[in-house]
Amino acid sequence: MKILVLNCGSSSLKYQLIDMGNEDALAKGLVERIGIEGSRIVHEAAGKDKFTLETAMQSHSEAIGHVMDALTDSEHGVIRSMDEINAVGHRVVHGGEKFAASVIIDDKVKEAIVECAELAPLHNPPNLTGIKAAEELMPGKPQVAVFDTAFHQTMPDKAYMYAIPMDLYRKYKIRRYGFHGTSHRYVSEMAAGLLGRPVTGLKMVTCHLGNGASVCAIDGGVSVDTSMGFTPLEGLIMGTRSGDIDPAVVQFVMDKEGVDAKGAIDILNKKSGVLGISGVSSDFRDIEDAASKGNAQASLALESFCYRVAKYVGGYAAAMNGVDAVVFTAGLGENGKLVREKICGYLGYLGLEADLEKNNVRGKLVDFGTPGSKVRPLIVPTNEELVIARDTKALLVKKS
Ligand code: ADP
Repeated sequence: MKILVLNCGSSSLKYQLIDMGNEDALAKGLVERIGIEGSRIVHEAAGKDKFTLETAMQSHSEAIGHVMDALTDSEHGVIRSMDEINAVGHRVVHGGEKFAASVIIDDKVKEAIVECAELAPLHNPPNLTGIKAAEELMPGKPQVAVFDTAFHQTMPDKAYMYAIPMDLYRKYKIRRYGFHGTSHRYVSEMAAGLLGRPVTGLKMVTCHLGNGASVCAIDGGVSVDTSMGFTPLEGLIMGTRSGDIDPAVVQFVMDKEGVDAKGAIDILNKKSGVLGISGVSSDFRDIEDAASKGNAQASLALESFCYRVAKYVGGYAAAMNGVDAVVFTAGLGENGKLVREKICGYLGYLGLEADLEKNNVRGKLVDFGTPGSKVRPLIVPTNEELVIARDTKALLVKKS
């Protein structure tokens, strides 16, 4: 069985074709600048040269057409025809309270994705555009939606409710949803495998640390709390997002800087985080580099970031009345040994002791705790595309 995974952004599209026999990615790629001048596709097939084509692409439909051409091309393709693809799995950012699991897409599901677009105006519309384009170009092929929010639908109300008038929740569904669910779910299952214990018997805190970053408390395999909220702005300090902040700052910035609410939120989303504190970059490699050369603001960004992660891990250990493993994943979690070291440095009171030699790795599935460490610190590379493909396969098998 071969499954095509699509992740459509407003002007971009990421794809992967996965052979479910061995779960290998046969090909993957990225289409950028859809609908903008300079659009291009970068396609990589296992064991073949990377292929790049710059050509005008006005719509997601045209972009998917180029993906199909690349996949079936005689030189850099990996299949003879699109008939070899059994189904398409789509990443959809927001499933609101409607979706606690992945689903086969039909008209009702599409309507629900439109309804949830109000909660994720930047993400759900392009996700839906991608679904419609794929349906049009691959008629009759099963399409599956996998939601970033679904895994967190198990959070209890005491964790997801904001302390605001209940009416605002009832009328507008203002509550915490959480994101990165596919990643948190995947790494928790992989972590259980590494520890050789069933996920149902483990308490874990998973730290997805990338440009966007979130922490999740997973008790017995289900999400019981997570740091992102109504939008991905809440929680950790991120590349360019502030994370937790006193909401009164919004009004204050509006008054002082003469911007409207959207302008103030834009500052918190795009100009804050480690970029805002350091004034250097949103990329941790640049920040670590500047900090090592004595840049005090870069050092502060690094320290503030790690401190916030550690506070969440401690909070979630309390929420679950214990923790067996702390899992690091995503670009920074998998590669940033200094950040892992600093975060673990706060967690000695929990009985977590990192072995700094073992921590000196990048992108490997590893337990880097000392033999005596009561809480296991783990690095687990994430693979959201594989989860999407697995869910798609499972729904197809169930249906047949
Ligand atoms: P996203 O998918 O959210 O865009 P990623 O998961 O790709 O983000 O993570 C990007 C982050 O990972 C960047 O801040 C980058 O600096 C960081 N990162 C990648 N490699 C390293 C490294 N070797 N050392 C430190 N940070 C790294």
